[in-house]
Amino acid sequence: MSRATPDSRESNPAELAVLGDIHKDLFLGGSWTKASNGATLPVEDPATGAVIADVADATAADGARALDAAVAAQAGWARTPPRERGEILRRAYEQMVDRADQLALLMTLEMGKPLSESRSEVGYAAEFFRWFSEEAVRIAGTWATAPDGQTRLWTMKQPVGPCLFIVPWNFPLAMGTRKIGPAVAAGCTMIVKPAAQTPLSMLALAQILADAGLPAGVLSVLPTSSPQQLTAPLIADPRLRKLSFTGSTAVGRKLVEQSAHQLLRVSVELGGNAPFIVFDDADLDHAVDEAMKAKLRNNGEACTAANRFYVHESVARSFADRLAERFRALVVGRGVDEAVTLGPLIDRAAVTKVAGLVDRAVQDGASVVTGGTRADGIGYFYPPTVLADVPSDSLILREEIFGPVAPIATFATEEDVLAEVNSSEYGLASYVFTRSLDRALRVCERLEVGMVGLNRGVLSNAAAPFGGVKASGFGREGGREGIEEYLETKYVSVNAS
Ligand code: NAD
Repeated sequence: MSRATPDSRESNPAELAVLGDIHKDLFLGGSWTKASNGATLPVEDPATGAVIADVADATAADGARALDAAVAAQAGWARTPPRERGEILRRAYEQMVDRADQLALLMTLEMGKPLSESRSEVGYAAEFFRWFSEEAVRIAGTWATAPDGQTRLWTMKQPVGPCLFIVPWNFPLAMGTRKIGPAVAAGCTMIVKPAAQTPLSMLALAQILADAGLPAGVLSVLPTSSPQQLTAPLIADPRLRKLSFTGSTAVGRKLVEQSAHQLLRVSVELGGNAPFIVFDDADLDHAVDEAMKAKLRNNGEACTAANRFYVHESVARSFADRLAERFRALVVGRGVDEAVTLGPLIDRAAVTKVAGLVDRAVQDGASVVTGGTRADGIGYFYPPTVLADVPSDSLILREEIFGPVAPIATFATEEDVLAEVNSSEYGLASYVFTRSLDRALRVCERLEVGMVGLNRGVLSNAAAPFGGVKASGFGREGGREGIEEYLETKYVSVNAS
């Protein structure tokens, strides 16, 4: 591992230009406006800890105004022809692709990951707009003859209504477009609350959607340093019809509880604890290549990140050594430097948490193959770390690490590893490496998760249903299923006698 020297933001005109171009007010009811109390919140560059922008800090009163705007716009928006809604998304998709370099730079500045990864996220985020621009015109009902032949059964799909979207910092654009895309396609209005660490990308997206022709009131974007104060009154308001949340399981649980009062329709995309299982018949070089992506994509801060490696005891040492060699070759530093392949974590608390999990695993008996010790210096960095011989009861195998640490445990039989991985309370993603077709089919069926990467380390695709089971939440985003989250089915019994 080498560490690139952070360059100074002041000396970089591209960074200043991209930060200068962004609206830093609230996007509320189609206009840019200050927070009702005039307050702002600081946004940091996690590679340096320096404040790079101050954005308006929304209050509960701003939330109420945004909901008023969403409610006022809802009926007209639902009547807007699906083709028009789709074409707004299509134009926004094209603008995102055209402006990918600026959006990626902005994202790296506030979130930290390497520029190449931010560019990938911009592309991935834009794909949701392209996919749902195509789905908008395919919303359809059904017509059937009842079994007794006397009546006709007519179903129609209608938009759910005003939505609240609460999204995390780890994918500042894609976690939003995965919700905004289908909601726009379905004819719903919405309020988006980005994470306080990464509001800039979402504010940039608001301008793109406005430029693409999204009518006033359909979308509001409200960054805030007081999420509970902003969102609890909205969730309690009977005019809100849907909550979609992506974030931690702990916060997801609270929001589901709050939503129970209004019996609000809810989707929750929560934490993960993905196992990466390597059988003795796997192509080991390929498994290592894919492990690099599954573990290190997004600095290791992905809900789908490989969190615990289970490698067959006969190949575990070889796998650990090859993975460690690749980890040592990473260039850690400020993501805006094109040479950098691993950026900082999001904040100091994240570094403390990762370091604590590693230290505890070592106390439990794990051995450090590479990394494991924090370097001094500015920014929220943690070194890429491989741990071998991690005992099965170690906390690092149970908790989401959210950092560049690969803990490797071993297993002897297929039954043993399935029992072990399915004992987790989480059930989001899983990775399986084997060349046996029989085993692949068996294991994919028996894993208690929403998604499996079979001989692949990356799952995300706008055309596929993304989501989890158990404590990883419910609901699906993307694919054909994604738009259903924003539609109600109305049934009409038609007299045909
Ligand atoms: P978090 O739960 O702390 O925050 C997520 C969002 O909720 C942020 O916008 C935050 O401001 C807001 N929030 C926090 N407390 C709130 C409250 N009391 N009321 C209303 N809003 C509140 O999570 P995070 O640290 O930002 O994100 C990381 C987590 O997100 C990880 O657990 C990760 O696995 C999960 N995640 C899941 C998916 C998925 O699709 N399953 C995708 C990305 C991230």
